[in-house]
Amino acid sequence: MNEFIEKETLQEKAAQLSVVLDDAALDRFDIYAKALVEWNTKINLTAITTPKEIVAKHFVDSLAVLTAVTPHPGAKLIDVGTGAGFPGLVLLIARPDLQVTLLDSTKKKLMVLDDILQRLSLSAELLHARAEEAGQNPQYREQYDLVTARAVAPLHLLAEYCLPFAKVGGQFAAMKSGTVREELEEGAFAVRTLGGGKPQCTTLTLEDVGARSLVLIKKRTTTNPKYPRPSAKIAKNPLVSGKKSAKTEK
Ligand code: SAM
Repeated sequence: MNEFIEKETLQEKAAQLSVVLDDAALDRFDIYAKALVEWNTKINLTAITTPKEIVAKHFVDSLAVLTAVTPHPGAKLIDVGTGAGFPGLVLLIARPDLQVTLLDSTKKKLMVLDDILQRLSLSAELLHARAEEAGQNPQYREQYDLVTARAVAPLHLLAEYCLPFAKVGGQFAAMKSGTVREELEEGAFAVRTLGGGKPQCTTLTLEDVGARSLVLIKKRTTTNPKYPRPSAKIAKNPLVSGKKSAKTEK
């Protein structure tokens, strides 16, 4: 059978992360990669377009979330700023038992995901919204066991976008390139303010990708209803230090 990606390579690389991919998952990854390349000729989705790079930089990279978190069967996951489905759709392919919401503020990307989900015979909720707006909607607020985000914003902003979605006891996993010490320091106040526990950081080196950091934050207490704030307020007064935010924020 004609394969677009090297399924065996993907299976091996996933196994190195202790992720088992069965034949159905491998077939779906093949369809996904083909669809991405096809859609990318119409809409700018990704700069990564060779099958080998898609496997390493999108699929294996996204699967790396599962080295830090093992969602329970049927867990609810929201991927914030999912773009072309990373990591949320990759996680759904690896774990079709999950209840996945793919959120993005760009409608075109969700239209692409809708088409890809149909080709994969998988279902996920597609949510066209800004994270900071959906985080105030009771339908989504504090409803998720796992919140993921890759390449969306620095941690002090991302925490305000993402932590409101997590249930108390749930987790937020942020995927970052390189090392993140400074970002963690800068994000510490926001994480605390929004009800997050102490961030745990795992760094791993992926072949053909490089160093990746996975920042895992447990939701310890409910998020104060005033967060997330509207975009303009977040941008104007980011949660970067106790003094600045607590005193100037109404
Ligand atoms: N997560 C994907 C990945 O790793 O390939 C996409 C990353 S792309 C650089 C950032 C995505 O986040 C874009 O699709 C953008 O539309 C979305 N985004 C940025 N800010 C957002 C917000 N506040 N709410 C919802 N989506 C947002």
